[in-house]
Amino acid sequence: MKFPIYLDNNSTTPLDPEVLDSMMPYLTKRFGNAASKSHKYGWETEEAVELSRKKIAQLINAEPKEIIFTSGATESNNLALKGVVERYASKGNHIITSPTEHKAILDPCAYLEKLGIEVTYLKVDEYGAIDTEDLKKAIKDKTVLVSLMFANNEIGTLNHVKEIGEICREHGVLFHTDGTQAVGKIPVDVDEMKIDLMSFSAHKIYGPKGIGALYIRSRKPRVSLIEQINGGGHEKGMRSGTLNVPGIVGFGKACEICSSVMEEESEKIMSLKDKMMSAFLKNIDYCYLNGHPDKRIPNNLNLSFRFIDSEALMMEMKELAISSGSACTSATLETSYVIKAIGKSEEFARSSIRFGVGRFNISEEIDFAIDRVIDAVKKLRKLSPAYEIFLDDNKLDK
Ligand code: PMP
Repeated sequence: MKFPIYLDNNSTTPLDPEVLDSMMPYLTKRFGNAASKSHKYGWETEEAVELSRKKIAQLINAEPKEIIFTSGATESNNLALKGVVERYASKGNHIITSPTEHKAILDPCAYLEKLGIEVTYLKVDEYGAIDTEDLKKAIKDKTVLVSLMFANNEIGTLNHVKEIGEICREHGVLFHTDGTQAVGKIPVDVDEMKIDLMSFSAHKIYGPKGIGALYIRSRKPRVSLIEQINGGGHEKGMRSGTLNVPGIVGFGKACEICSSVMEEESEKIMSLKDKMMSAFLKNIDYCYLNGHPDKRIPNNLNLSFRFIDSEALMMEMKELAISSGSACTSATLETSYVIKAIGKSEEFARSSIRFGVGRFNISEEIDFAIDRVIDAVKKLRKLSPAYEIFLDDNKLDK
């Protein structure tokens, strides 16, 4: 076992060695600019880019031409939201989203609000999914886009994506989903789910960092956008800039691997995650699951350990690489807005821990993590005045 044991795979994943192998030639001898049309260096990288585009499209049942490369899901989300709002300004100025989206949706929404765009934030249920009846009621004539995440990055809950897609299609409103936590882990079919735009990223599926994609539907309906980065007209003018060929090749390889191993891998990962979940719920009192018990991505486990501060718990367990809330919110020392949005208290938010199991975790690591967490929670509870008071008030033994 290698310490600290990496259990933060919702934040990022290690590069798969096969992905690295596929990238190496493009970091060394195949260095051409994929836009160079006059020589072999350009032709060979262009060919590699197009092959990757095909592999990526296959994973989500899209056409290769519907994949636009970006630097990651943050950029894809920005392009989708700002690009659609700008393009369809004559139709309306209203978009719909939810308060549990990643900051890469919420921050562009706040920016658009400053420009006068109206944003409706649908409330979420106790698990973090939206109610499709609320969505129907929120759609207006001037609504140009619904953006609702596929799976939540902190608590793993899946939205009712297919129903959302159907409602949006019936009402003639475009549907964007942030698929970053779902693609490669569970089946995602943009046609069947009536998704018009979808953001996703390579580094969540054992690919390299700094490369992602925006799926843009090309027919029924044909979606168009106003580009947000100008210069050179790459990616059909949707996203200018010399292509990150090694990143794209790695992204393609990562998607190809997911296409072939996803079913089996998800089962293995889910059983490791479930083993952890049942051990904690059985052996630790006042431990609660955040997010839906089954309608969630296979690798995410988010729990609140009452009377424990998650930062203190993580400090106590330096052998485990885990996180409290998402990496992005923990950087600001703000407690999780997602946990609060599902109706839980500040105390729950402060005591929440996210475990993200991944391709390279082995069962010994999970067993180690289980014992380590149980010990650490017991130790910290013994030191917790709030726990002591709670036990006294309820006349319970320590
Ligand atoms: N959306 C979601 C749901 C995510 O989990 C993340 C990564 N934390 C992002 C967007 C941002 O992705 P990237 O790092 O590729 O910009």
